[in-house]
Amino acid sequence: MIPFSPPRMDQKIIDEVVDTLKSGWITTGPKVKKFEERLTKYAGHKATLCTSSGSAGLELLLRWFGVEEGDEVILPAYTYTATANVIVHCGAKPVFVDVKRDFNISVKAIEKAITDRTKVIMPVDIAGFPCDYDEINALVKRKDITGKFNPKTKEQEMLGRILVLSDAAHSLGALYKGEKTGKLTDITVYSFHAVKNLTTAEGGAVCLNLPENFDNEAIYKYLRIKSLHGQTKDAFTKTKAGAWKYDVIEPGYKFNMTDIAAAMGLVEIERYDDDMLVKRKHIFDRYAKAFSNFDWAELPEYETELKKSSYHVFLLRIKNISENQRDEIIQKITERGVSVNVHFIPLPMMTYYRSLGNDIAKFPVSYDNFSRVISLPVYYDLTDEQVETVVNAVVGSYDVV
Ligand SMILES: *Cc1c(COP(=O)(O)O)cnc(C)c1O
Repeated sequence: MIPFSPPRMDQKIIDEVVDTLKSGWITTGPKVKKFEERLTKYAGHKATLCTSSGSAGLELLLRWFGVEEGDEVILPAYTYTATANVIVHCGAKPVFVDVKRDFNISVKAIEKAITDRTKVIMPVDIAGFPCDYDEINALVKRKDITGKFNPKTKEQEMLGRILVLSDAAHSLGALYKGEKTGKLTDITVYSFHAVKNLTTAEGGAVCLNLPENFDNEAIYKYLRIKSLHGQTKDAFTKTKAGAWKYDVIEPGYKFNMTDIAAAMGLVEIERYDDDMLVKRKHIFDRYAKAFSNFDWAELPEYETELKKSSYHVFLLRIKNISENQRDEIIQKITERGVSVNVHFIPLPMMTYYRSLGNDIAKFPVSYDNFSRVISLPVYYDLTDEQVETVVNAVVGSYDVV
């Protein structure tokens, strides 16, 4: 069986993890700090806070901005449930909008969904392809839009407009006009979950890139406290002689990353652009070339003049098929020994989000994308031969359905 997305685990990663295990310090400490600095240098934003997951990072920043009951947060209907769940955790209303043929949030749909309760927009770079960031950033700054904004907290007052909090769980290393995600919006959150391009088993990072009137470094220091029970000193700092005393400034969260996780991240980030992304692009190109021979295959956009993907998953769509036929094709592909997936079942189709009154009929492009998509495996150790096996399995399965 060809698996869908096993993590890249080689001796270098094992050695770095073992080094951490033997170092006498395994939770948040020097390696997390080093990984944060490395990520800041990598994407070029202002400061990075590592977290226990991407979800934790998203929730922490919604909380930081003061999102609460009565507020609305706009997000695409086509995303993983983490993006929406964190909004619900804060007591706010997730406002779903439709996406485009490139799977990403439609800026026109965002504009229509903005009300005087909108506090945050959460674009998601699906499959690693960046959203329309110039348009999104221009929209939130437009006079008629800022005029509707009702600030309730000090942070909202200072920003004076809707916050753009980008869910870049798929798009580490993706480019928009030559800039990396992390630097494209006010705040960007990466995920290092086991299936993501760069993994620390579980983990995430918050990239702070707030405008000049914010002190991003001071916000980093505050968020570090907020991510560790509101405690003024973390356990590592307290180990220093005489430094046992601390205060609790608020009932914070337990969202910190461990040094074991950061050890894995440190190895991967060093070879991410020149090795991991090169390999992934190679696999994307091979799929694109192979499927361009079939007129029933609809290839995803992954490189344009403006944007370059991080090649997270290859979203192949089949033209003119129903959801049931797609399911049958997936069944046949699986029988041929290849694991495929669907990214994603739109959230308005999920029991919980339906119970909030959402109806998939209102998101026709999301449904159409979902009903015809098959996500193909893309990962470091996938060989050319295996890529061919995947292609043959898809083609053979299409032919019999
Ligand atoms: C994986 C993922 C997340 C959440 O990441 P975790 O690190 O697992 O919390 C958020 N959004 C999207 C789109 C994802 O795919």
